[in-house]
Amino acid sequence: MSTLRLDPISKDAVVFAPERNKRPIDGWGSLKAASTKCPFCPGNEHLTPADTFCQKDNFNKWTIRSFPNKYPAFTEPSEHISGIQEVIVESVSHDLNMGLYTRGHLVKVLEVYKNRIASLKNVKNIKYIVVFKNHGFFAGASLEHPHSQVVGIDFVPKAVNKKLKRLKRFYNKTKKCYLCSLDHIKNKIYENSLFMAFVPETARFAFECWIVPKDHKTFYEQSSHDDLNKLAEVILKVFKAVNKCLDFPPFNLIINTGFLASHKSYFHWNIQLIPKTAQFAGFELATGIYINQINPGHTANQLKTYLDK
Ligand SMILES: [Zn+2]
Ligand SMILES: [Zn+2]
Repeated sequence: MSTLRLDPISKDAVVFAPERNKRPIDGWGSLKAASTKCPFCPGNEHLTPADTFCQKDNFNKWTIRSFPNKYPAFTEPSEHISGIQEVIVESVSHDLNMGLYTRGHLVKVLEVYKNRIASLKNVKNIKYIVVFKNHGFFAGASLEHPHSQVVGIDFVPKAVNKKLKRLKRFYNKTKKCYLCSLDHIKNKIYENSLFMAFVPETARFAFECWIVPKDHKTFYEQSSHDDLNKLAEVILKVFKAVNKCLDFPPFNLIINTGFLASHKSYFHWNIQLIPKTAQFAGFELATGIYINQINPGHTANQLKTYLDK
């Protein structure tokens, strides 16, 4: 059972989730597991809860599947917090990097994200939803097999609330969404007719990249198949550059989507890709101030050079 405690002074939330301590872990460092032991490999479906969604090929074999997280941080019912946490196994291949998915397969994965967000939105009391992917032990993944997670919880986290309030204030003042107001986004890496990838001017981490729709869109789950096809092209380009530049680093990928109808005017959905090139150190932990060792303009130029190689 999970419990939530709020620091009385900072109001920072901590979730205590002892169940997660029972998770299987592939190992320290390289995460090289024998696929026979991997609960996400085909043949080991009995080691995971029943599917909430399953995509199959022409031979009736699954290609992508989702199910409740067996070791959730959020459980229902619990003392102060409830939520839903699902795992999406993105491939039958145990060690396939997202950057090496075919475009067609990535579109299918992006469709499953859409399906699961829409499904969780229908659950009573869910107030916040996020999709994220941890790849590699140093990015927080306990298993190597390519997977992501979708989490819906019954409260809006403090940091998200703060960001939303600032975005709303910006909109009320300017009548423009913040991302749409950046007419000329600096540090572009790649763009097509619908999406753009860039390094934000205030990137917290080295090689942090954002992918956003060029038009104002609030809800990821309202993306059409054509949108997701164009999105997949940009994601694969960014991964190509990042993987060539950093030799397939661990990474976190986060999809931030609007979750209330009232977000429509001022929230612009976005994807953050954060290669893990350094760990949080004492100064960051003490102050909440991030130290990025590379200038965003330099990062974008460096990544762009790898796009053509
Ligand atoms: Zn596996
Ligand atoms: Zn916008």
